[in-house]
Amino acid sequence: MDYQDVVGQVLSAVKPHIGAGQVADYIPDLARVDPNQFGFAIATVDGQVYSDGDVDVPFAIESISKVFALALVLPKRDTKIWDRVRREPSGLAFNDLIQLEVENGIPRNPFINPGAIVTTDQLLADTGDAVAAMRALLRAETGNPHLEVDSVTAESELRTGDRNRAIAYLMASFGNMVNPVDLALDHYFRQCSFSITCAELAKVGLIIARHGLRVDGSRLLEEGDTRHIIALMATCGTYDEAGNFAYRVGLPIKSGVGGGMLAIVPGICSVATWGPGLDPKGNSATGALALETFAQVSGLAVF
Ligand code: GLN
Repeated sequence: MDYQDVVGQVLSAVKPHIGAGQVADYIPDLARVDPNQFGFAIATVDGQVYSDGDVDVPFAIESISKVFALALVLPKRDTKIWDRVRREPSGLAFNDLIQLEVENGIPRNPFINPGAIVTTDQLLADTGDAVAAMRALLRAETGNPHLEVDSVTAESELRTGDRNRAIAYLMASFGNMVNPVDLALDHYFRQCSFSITCAELAKVGLIIARHGLRVDGSRLLEEGDTRHIIALMATCGTYDEAGNFAYRVGLPIKSGVGGGMLAIVPGICSVATWGPGLDPKGNSATGALALETFAQVSGLAVF
């Protein structure tokens, strides 16, 4: 496969649409991002990166961090994470509250906000510092020792995070939070605010594409755990559009409201896109088009 040619074809298809969608504005700091940017990167399991566009511009990782929080929690065998969060698509927005009330404070899956808050709460209990655990992982896999939380984004999330606060307190009322709620939320907001580039994101995704192996060859996840993460990405990774993405793209994907998307071709490569404009469900408009084109051109869709 000529990956650089695939990247070129994706860029040509997306170019006329750069700027499409609306930047997230419910987190004020994200509303300041210039929507006329786009990057696309493929990292193959042998560590090569093929990329074009704005691949070295940092953006907020947001919900894509939920994949790595789960990856850090799953290896702890004594963790009862699956008593605290289920493995079903929600069919609702990522910050919905009603289903959580009806279902006794047990979130549908780890990739919507309530499920991710529970996962970060668990990581905090397991490690004493969820953000530090994630920072260490992201730095090691990207090789960037300066990769860091953007404190302005984190402060913006904290200031406007009343809905996430409502979600976390609702779960606490059902006994599904182990740390003080505000402490767990502080870690969640900062985890979402890690500043990462498209090329870096593709490299971190290789942990999943390599069935759990880290860049140094050590094992983070058992193969079974990786399979579970991939299954959850495919069924829940793009919120209430997961069915449509399975249909249009045919790959496991996780998106974030910073405009990033991460797709995995198991055993072959990790693909990252970044375009800040979102569709009404919160997925990157240009990212969706890029991944659809990638799947068509490469023939690597798994469905
Ligand atoms: N930090 C964002 C929030 O909590 C993450 C949501 C997302 O990327 N879908 O709302």
